[in-house]
Amino acid sequence: MYNLKVVVIGAGIGGLTTGIALRQAGFEVEVYDRVRELRPAGAGISLWSNGVKVLNRLGLGEKMAQIGGQMDRMQYLTKTGELLNDIDLQPLVEEVGQRPYPVARTDLQQMLLDAYPGEVKLNHKCIGVEEGAQGVTAIFENGHRATGNLLVAADGIHSILRQYVLREEIQPRYGTYVNWNGLVPASEDLAPKNSWAIYVGDHKRVSMMPVAGDRFYFFFDVPLPKGTPVNPDYQTDLAQHFQGWAQPVQLLIERLDSSTTNRVEIHDVGPLNGMVRGRVALLGDSAHATCPDLGQGGCQAMEDGLVLTQCLLTTNLGVEYALQRYEAERKERTGAVVQKARKRAEMIHGSDPDITQKWYQQLAHEDPTDVTKAISKVILAGPLH
Ligand code: FAD
Repeated sequence: MYNLKVVVIGAGIGGLTTGIALRQAGFEVEVYDRVRELRPAGAGISLWSNGVKVLNRLGLGEKMAQIGGQMDRMQYLTKTGELLNDIDLQPLVEEVGQRPYPVARTDLQQMLLDAYPGEVKLNHKCIGVEEGAQGVTAIFENGHRATGNLLVAADGIHSILRQYVLREEIQPRYGTYVNWNGLVPASEDLAPKNSWAIYVGDHKRVSMMPVAGDRFYFFFDVPLPKGTPVNPDYQTDLAQHFQGWAQPVQLLIERLDSSTTNRVEIHDVGPLNGMVRGRVALLGDSAHATCPDLGQGGCQAMEDGLVLTQCLLTTNLGVEYALQRYEAERKERTGAVVQKARKRAEMIHGSDPDITQKWYQQLAHEDPTDVTKAISKVILAGPLH
C-alpha cells in the first residue's frame, strides 16, 4: 500500500523505531507523546541481537556499534564472589550473526530521535480514539485531533488504548521484585570491562554490564511485596539488602548516585488475546510488557515496528487486513517471550525456593554453550533470523 498516513502514540523505543521504519517505507507519519520533555525510563538496556538486527535493517547498525558496550563474556558469581560460570559470547554471536549491545538508554533514545526524520509532537496526551470507514482519529487532552489511515498505540505498559483494542481492561501484573538501576564509571575493581557480571544469591541479583563512555549499566533485584515504602536513600536500602555480599557489590553501592538511580517495581502484561482492532494496532509494551529477565521487552517492540511496516508494505488488501497479518505474526512470538521472561523472573527471584536453589547449582555445572544456545533460540525465533 502507498500514501498511508500513520498516527503513532508514544515516542519510546517502540514508537520511535516504528516511526523510523514507516518513514523509510515512504509513509507519512506523526508521532505524539504526552510528556513535555522526552526522558528515557531507566538507565540502560541490553539489546540482544534480534533488536540490533532491526536497527541494522534501518541503517543504524554502525551508530549502534558506537554507543553499545563491548560485552564479550557473561560471568555468574555467588553472592560472596566465587565464579560459578564464565560464558564466552562468541559462539552466540557466530550462531545468530550479530553481537548484542548493552547501551545507555539516553544514547539509544538520542540515536532513534536523530534517525526519525520528523518532529515528535510533545505535550500531546492521547485520551481516546474514533474510527470510521476511511480512517481513525486520535483525540488529545489539549483538544488536538490527528487523523490517519491507521493508529499505532505504542503508549507503554499503562496504555490507555489497550482497553479500546481489547474491549476490556487488563492491569499489569506485579513481577514480585523491585529493580534499582543506574550508571557508574566502569572500573576493573567492580567487574571486567568486557563482561556482563551477575551476582546471584538469596533470590536477589546484582548485575553490571559495559556501555559506551567507559561506564557500567548496573542493576539490583530484590523480591519485595508490592507497595513496599520507598526509602529515597537507595544506598542505605541496598547496603542492607546486600549486607555481606562480595566486595565489588559493596563498592558499587558506595559509588552509585542515588539521585540518578531508578527504582522500579517490575510488572508485565500478557499474553493478550489480540493486538489489533480495526485500524488500531498495539505495539511494544502496550501489547506485551515483559519482565526484564530475558532482556527482550525493547527488542520485541523493535521487531513489532519492523513487522508492522512490512505488513503494510506487502499487501494491497487494505489497512485492516495488514493489521490482521501483523497480529498473526506477532501475537504468538511476543506472548511466548512474556511467558518465558515471567518464568525466568520467578526462577531467579525465588517464587519456588527449591527451583531457585536448583538453578544456582545448575549454573555451577552448566556447559556455557547450553547458556548461549538458550539465548540464541529466543533470538532466532524473531523475524530477522
Ligand atoms: P515505553 O518506553 O513505555 O514508551 C511509551 C511512551 O508512550 C512514553 O514515552 C510515554 O510518555 C508515552 N505515552 C504513554 N501514554 C500516552 C498517552 N496517553 N498519550 C501520548 N503518549 C503516551 N528490554 C530489552 O530489550 N532489554 C533489556 O535489557 C531491558 N531491560 C529492562 C529493564 C527494566 C528495569 C525495565 C523496566 C524494562 C526493561 N526492558 C528491556 C523493557 C523495555 O524497557 C521496554 O520493553 C521498552 O522500553 C518498551 O518500549 P515502548 O516504546 O513500548 O514503551
